[in-house]
Amino acid sequence: MTLPELWTHHPQQILAFQAGDRVEDIDANSSPGFDGTKSDAPALQQQRNERFAELQEMLHANGRSGDHRSVLLVLQGMDTAGKGGIVEHVVGAGNPMGIRYTSFGVPTAEELQHHYLWRIRKALPGAGQIGVFDRSHYEDVLVVRVHNLVPPQVWGARYDEINAFERELTDAGTSIVKVAMFVSLEEQKQRLADRLASPDKYWKYNPGDLDERALWPQYREAYQAVLDQTSTAHAPWYVVPADKKWYSRLAVTELLIETLKSLELPWPPADFDVEAEKKRLLSSA
Ligand code: ADP
Repeated sequence: MTLPELWTHHPQQILAFQAGDRVEDIDANSSPGFDGTKSDAPALQQQRNERFAELQEMLHANGRSGDHRSVLLVLQGMDTAGKGGIVEHVVGAGNPMGIRYTSFGVPTAEELQHHYLWRIRKALPGAGQIGVFDRSHYEDVLVVRVHNLVPPQVWGARYDEINAFERELTDAGTSIVKVAMFVSLEEQKQRLADRLASPDKYWKYNPGDLDERALWPQYREAYQAVLDQTSTAHAPWYVVPADKKWYSRLAVTELLIETLKSLELPWPPADFDVEAEKKRLLSSA
């Protein structure tokens, strides 16, 4: 199956960060490459979720049959950007047996005693898995940079180190899909208000989110540095406008489908004699 017709451009092309792109120019409310509207989204999302699930099962099946490859989805974005929605509505269409989800919050005392990549390495996907990082090692050059949690020469050295780390992963057979989700300040305000408006959403609200929101100019600078310095050929960044949740979910679904397709996985061949087994089954009680 090819890309559905409502896409005029593949998200992999139109959303890939290009040298010179500016974070301040991102239109969070746009839907690049998509010619449809919100009303087209539910049916299309369901159809593409099914395609994703099929490919994910194939990855899982190959992992169980000795193939070492895996996929790693890295989700970054400010609070309310919709990382959780991607996990629930996109990745959630897959079979949990083949998904490894990890969210990275404030490092624990134990984690702080180690190199920042220590906890990241422990969470990497195994053979046949799709790893999902809800926040990631990029926090170590985002929140850490904005709040001066380590000196500039320390975080400054991390961009190259992250590139080398990701290179190591891709060389070892992990396809990395890095998604930076951008929500506008107005939309973020609305989403935070929604969280404060109903008790079933309080759990998603954190008073600290408002402090981070006030630091958006500093975060914008830190995101710019991430995109400028860590969008590599082996692990490019995709810049996903996130004011329209239906759009960001459709786009990330296509990014995952394309990545899985590029692995050109077959259904693993039987490691037994199929005909002989059929006969044995027929003649059994
Ligand atoms: P979320 O806000 O994504 O729902 P949490 O409530 O667990 O999840 O918050 C995660 C918080 O942890 C964020 O504010 C994030 O900036 C912070 N965090 C993540 N990684 C680091 C890190 N390496 N150093 C400091 N803070 C971090």
